[in-house]
Amino acid sequence: MNQGKLTFKGGVQVPEFKELAESKPIEVAESPQFAYIPMQQHIGAPCEPVVNVGDRVTIGQKIGETGAFVSSTVHASIAGTVKEIKTMYISTGSKTKCVVIENDGTDEMHESVKGRNLDELSPQEIINLVKDNGIAGMGGACFPTHVKFSIPDGKKIDTVILNGAECEPYLTGDHRLMLENAESIVFGFKAIKKALGVEKAYIGIENNKMDAVEAVKKAIKPEDGIEVAVLQTKYPQGAEKSIIYAITGRSVGTGALPLEVGVVVSNVATAKAIADAIQHGKPLYERIVTVTGRGIVEPKNFLVRIGTPFSELIRQSGGFNGKPGKVISGGPMMGIAQFTLDVPVIKGSGGILVLPEEEVKDEPVLPCIKCGKCLDVCPSGLQPLFISAYALRNDVERADYYSALACVECGACSFICPAKRPLAESIRNIKKEIIAKRKKS
Ligand code: SF4
Ligand code: SF4
Repeated sequence: MNQGKLTFKGGVQVPEFKELAESKPIEVAESPQFAYIPMQQHIGAPCEPVVNVGDRVTIGQKIGETGAFVSSTVHASIAGTVKEIKTMYISTGSKTKCVVIENDGTDEMHESVKGRNLDELSPQEIINLVKDNGIAGMGGACFPTHVKFSIPDGKKIDTVILNGAECEPYLTGDHRLMLENAESIVFGFKAIKKALGVEKAYIGIENNKMDAVEAVKKAIKPEDGIEVAVLQTKYPQGAEKSIIYAITGRSVGTGALPLEVGVVVSNVATAKAIADAIQHGKPLYERIVTVTGRGIVEPKNFLVRIGTPFSELIRQSGGFNGKPGKVISGGPMMGIAQFTLDVPVIKGSGGILVLPEEEVKDEPVLPCIKCGKCLDVCPSGLQPLFISAYALRNDVERADYYSALACVECGACSFICPAKRPLAESIRNIKKEIIAKRKKS
């Protein structure tokens, strides 16, 4: 293995800005006075509340579920009283039903929160435990993890990769997690290996985080059968298809899933959540969130209860540094600009980025000069200039024909485009139209 040089075809070098928060140890955020817990934080069917207004709930108690397989159970992140169940915007830009809990300050845990012994769990029991504890991909996509681990009949997996690339600029939560909780991550990864019955296991980390490489290597015992793969620092190294190619040399075809090439990819934070669920019986009710950018007084990495409003975390980071130009959920490449700070942290919230006004430029959009740079950098091998042109004309059929759905929305094409065309943004929008059209037909 060509350690430190492993990479994929395409991609871009982006300014990282990780120095703002990478040396800040994880700090436990104050638990909020009110937690707004969305019933849909994941890909799949929304949950329905299983509590009523006026009920008292405790930490880790199930408050939302559905019978659908592709979904993710939701748990209370604070102890207190259900004050309201209402529909509100979340950071993804969609509206969903939220259970609003008022904190009673007791931090009482639910009686169901009890640890188990990994050696005594069968593969199916591990998958059931992942489901019951509401674990969904914490790298941002929030795909229900039990679904990813349920390999369909006829498919065979021989390799599992834990994604510690954290290639998105500014974000440092996974980096801190690997430095501070390497043993838990390795424990969670061993559980994933057991659940999938797979021997080949790699943790992929970019070579801009060599301290994390060392911390993780130290936590791995020879009998664990886990290898650290040091990746070249390049964006989007952490996209599933990119990391699979970098480590195994296998190409996932356009529109295909990783399991078609015998691989499952999970995130380091997801492995930590699985370890917490097994060792402590802890459902996914909190996560690491990096609050960063030059528009914030004191960038930090927080351990945050799900449902905490963004405004609370900004306050706990010292507030805005000058006039904010843009607040983004996530990083600058894949994140979503917010129009309000009254949105809660969800399972997929990796960061809150505040750019000061002077860093937010409105650059004019020029006609495409057919330079081909967007084709060169696209990690999915797409033709962003054509898909975007069809998207801007709302030509759903042609955009679909040019495989718009294979776009991973990494933003590399928009970043490199000298004409500043809204490539990724227009493709993201047309994808929604294609999916809606397919659902109708
Ligand atoms: S088309 Fe999609 S996958 Fe390709 S570079 Fe643009 S955003 Fe990334
Ligand atoms: S990078 Fe921009 S200008 Fe160049 S071909 Fe793509 S869309 Fe056109």
